[in-house]
Amino acid sequence: MAKKNKAWELLHDPEYNKSTSFSKEERKELGLRGLLPYRISSQEEQTIRVLANLKRKETDLEKYILLASLRRRNSRLFYRTVIEYIEDIMPIIYTPTVGQACVEYSHIFRESTGFYITPKDKGHIHEMLDHWPSKDIKAIVITDGQRILGLGDLGSNGMGIPIGKLSLYVACGGIPPNQCLPVMLDVGTNNQELLDDPFYLGYPHKRLQGRAYNALIAEFVEAVQKKYPGALIQFEDFLTPNAYSILNKFKDKVLCFNDDIQGTAAVALAGVFASERITKKAFKDLKIMFLGAGSAATGIADLMVSAFMEAGLTKKEARERLWFVDVGGLVVKSRKNLMPHNLPYAHKHKKMSFLTAIESVKPDVLIGATGVPGLFTKEVIQGMSKINERPVIFALSNPTSKAECTAEQAYKFSKGKVVFASGSPFEPVIYKSETFYPGQGNNAYIFPGLGLGAIRAKAKKIPDELFLIAAKTLAEDVSEDDIERGALYPPLKQIRATSLNIAIAVAEKTFELGLSERKRKPKDMRGFIEENLYDPEY
Ligand code: NAD
Repeated sequence: MAKKNKAWELLHDPEYNKSTSFSKEERKELGLRGLLPYRISSQEEQTIRVLANLKRKETDLEKYILLASLRRRNSRLFYRTVIEYIEDIMPIIYTPTVGQACVEYSHIFRESTGFYITPKDKGHIHEMLDHWPSKDIKAIVITDGQRILGLGDLGSNGMGIPIGKLSLYVACGGIPPNQCLPVMLDVGTNNQELLDDPFYLGYPHKRLQGRAYNALIAEFVEAVQKKYPGALIQFEDFLTPNAYSILNKFKDKVLCFNDDIQGTAAVALAGVFASERITKKAFKDLKIMFLGAGSAATGIADLMVSAFMEAGLTKKEARERLWFVDVGGLVVKSRKNLMPHNLPYAHKHKKMSFLTAIESVKPDVLIGATGVPGLFTKEVIQGMSKINERPVIFALSNPTSKAECTAEQAYKFSKGKVVFASGSPFEPVIYKSETFYPGQGNNAYIFPGLGLGAIRAKAKKIPDELFLIAAKTLAEDVSEDDIERGALYPPLKQIRATSLNIAIAVAEKTFELGLSERKRKPKDMRGFIEENLYDPEY
């Protein structure tokens, strides 16, 4: 094959390509004359063109594919467009559309943009990392694809998640794209449909389990420590028991966290903190009930224990404020076969169904994280409204089709009284000619800022205190106007500024806790963090 010339390579290098934005002088200097149409567009014009093309696509999946190919062609234009039009684009590159993209990942596959590890790579992970083009890695998102959003085991198709999350690290947190590494730990899949699919691209075997599985994870974590010391590892969408065992094994040793457990916890806690300003009930007095007792709900409860304790309660008192209901009904002491992470919240109480438990426990806040749609029925919402002037209800299951109730149902069944947030976005709802703005408890409000702060402060690890401060900072970033509208989170438009505020607070706290590897704390933390933020403008 003939060797391409430099100018041609430049036009096909996503990091440097400016396409029609190359100026007259650049075109002359770089040998680009003849390779581009005459008219020069500003980057702003290019983003408008991208958005117009996006609107022309009929399905969200087609929009996802368009944006994925833009990122591979011109990454600065991709990120500039994401930042400028975050409200339009986040639901495509992240939940809910990324879920659908994962389901079809092997079918829509164009080009590899992540790092794959299979059981065949045992003993070689460290050397394989040399194949990744960038050496300066700071943020890693890894999944094994076993519990993608609420969609179950998608095997190596789950690669869409690390890619999507890291796009948000760049767009919202300002971490440069070449410092990001998306990883698929492809240990097989137990999803027979995928194994039978001739297009499926993953390791075509049943899942590796037990010791061999744990050893592969440990080898990866160790390879990262050697190859990229100080890089943050975000664990994502692992099956709950694995999520907990991995987190418990590494959280005190390396810079890592699990977003489904801890990121969700911080974003939900921030929503509850913000709800105080609407309900006028102090956080320390709240009783909270969870429907679903998996990684998301338990993670929220665990962080809430820390928050209650900070507010003056003992650990025992804090746990007594938190109640769980799962497929077997109210989680109580007398129930058999409870998972270890449920035991601290199994109180002495009669066994009962969800609806009766609401009447009996009388929670101020109800949080759903089941992955099952429709569980917040009319009776449930009315039950919460009967005991609370302003019931706080979060339907966190993703994607939108899995939410425990829709925003419309929540407002309608509570007669407009609910303080509502969901995991995936819902449009504003008009009820009796009043417009309600549902909050989106999107983890993207937390992880980019938390990650940025931890990376820049060179944190050794991420203890609960850092999630707490991130949650508080997020809640404080909700303006009076937002609260007036009933919104519990700042507008997405503001997410870069919010992430920066979170990063500053997290970095400050890291130093305060003595967890920084840096010798000295920067005097001007904001300036220090802002210094190296990625800016996609040409
Ligand atoms: P998980 O599988 O660990 O837990 C699911 C839990 O729901 C289990 O305890 C199960 O017993 C319970 N459950 C299932 N059906 C039920 C029923 N009919 N009644 C009562 N309980 C039932 O999953 P997870 O990681 O905890 O995630 C749960 C959901 O939360 C997913 O849909 C995920 O998308 C969502 N989530 C949202 C956010 C967010 O919005 N920020 C973040 C993380 C996870």
